[in-house]
Amino acid sequence: MLPSTERLLLGPGPSPVSSRVLAALSAPPRSHLDPDLLALLDDIRTRLTRIFSAPEGSAVLAVSGTGTTAMEAAVSNMVEPGRRALAIVTGYFGDRLAAIMERHGAEVTRLNVEWGRAVDPGAVIAALEHQRYDIVSVVHAETSTGVRNPIEAIAPQTMLHGAILIVDAVTSLGALPLRMDQTMFDVCYSCSQKGLGAPPGLSPIVFGPRALERRVSCRNYSLDLTLLEDFWMRRKYHHTISSPLVYALATALAEIEEEGLGARWARHESVHRQFVEGLAAIGLSVLPPEMERLWNLNAVVVPEGCQEAKVRAALLGKHSIEVGAGLGPLAGRVWRVGLMGSGATSANVERLLSALPSALQEGRT
Ligand SMILES: *Cc1c(COP(=O)(O)O)cnc(C)c1O
Repeated sequence: MLPSTERLLLGPGPSPVSSRVLAALSAPPRSHLDPDLLALLDDIRTRLTRIFSAPEGSAVLAVSGTGTTAMEAAVSNMVEPGRRALAIVTGYFGDRLAAIMERHGAEVTRLNVEWGRAVDPGAVIAALEHQRYDIVSVVHAETSTGVRNPIEAIAPQTMLHGAILIVDAVTSLGALPLRMDQTMFDVCYSCSQKGLGAPPGLSPIVFGPRALERRVSCRNYSLDLTLLEDFWMRRKYHHTISSPLVYALATALAEIEEEGLGARWARHESVHRQFVEGLAAIGLSVLPPEMERLWNLNAVVVPEGCQEAKVRAALLGKHSIEVGAGLGPLAGRVWRVGLMGSGATSANVERLLSALPSALQEGRT
């Protein structure tokens, strides 16, 4: 049976989709080479180029699949056996990126950071001075800990040391300030279902000019950038892209541009501040230090003696609100509350804050 009731998605993703994006999914289907569909692919590329601020000469498209697929696409086109990679690991997703690079034969050195803290750029500089790397990888918004890593400080150093910087913007794109042209990193990917506000299944990716010069011959057929460019730019069949997902992503990107990126970032910031203040009023706090916090994903500290799973169950069962559990070392220690995309509203913060006290009561029994 299909779900028939509304669920307020305030976990680490998927985020809610607007009614306009939802309606787009039921537009009449088109095949993957239909002129109507190809025009939408062009529209998506144009909008993504602006939303990433991708530099001139970049390859911009979306891979069929989720954020993880985009991670594989970035790695499989940039890594071949023997390439040296410095993986900045500040949580679960930084570790996943390191693991994917290892599977592609890279010699990976992990720069491990305590979960709940951002990487110190000084530690990255020290690592780069100690050894030569071909690639540096970093997660901009580490969804497992609610931490933002300082890519602005890392990018110039990576370039200075002759390495390519791969940035995971799966959670940050569309929610937090990110500009590829100013910050000058080389490969950046995202997903559709977090900051962008579309359903999962089509994941934006950009290869900047320096990355294109150093791409490797990709051994993965479905994620080979050259073949993907053949389809997206040269209209040659490669795979059957999902037309409903194309409609939804194009609509979500149009909504972003209508709102304006600056206004959208500001909305995420103000909703985050409202939430943190409301939490403080009921005696709760978020884990990362203030300057390192994400605006769109809040790692809320589980109070002493509280059975956190019961609180989540009460929010879901009694209030139809989804929040996420902690991952890895933070399992049982935090809830992950996403306020992103069309879900980042003052009304949603109020709805969650008013449901929390009774749900917290459940956690004490
Ligand atoms: C969610 C997430 C991913 C993986 O995305 P999926 O869409 O779940 O495959 C990768 N990196 C980060 C930072 C994420 O938050």
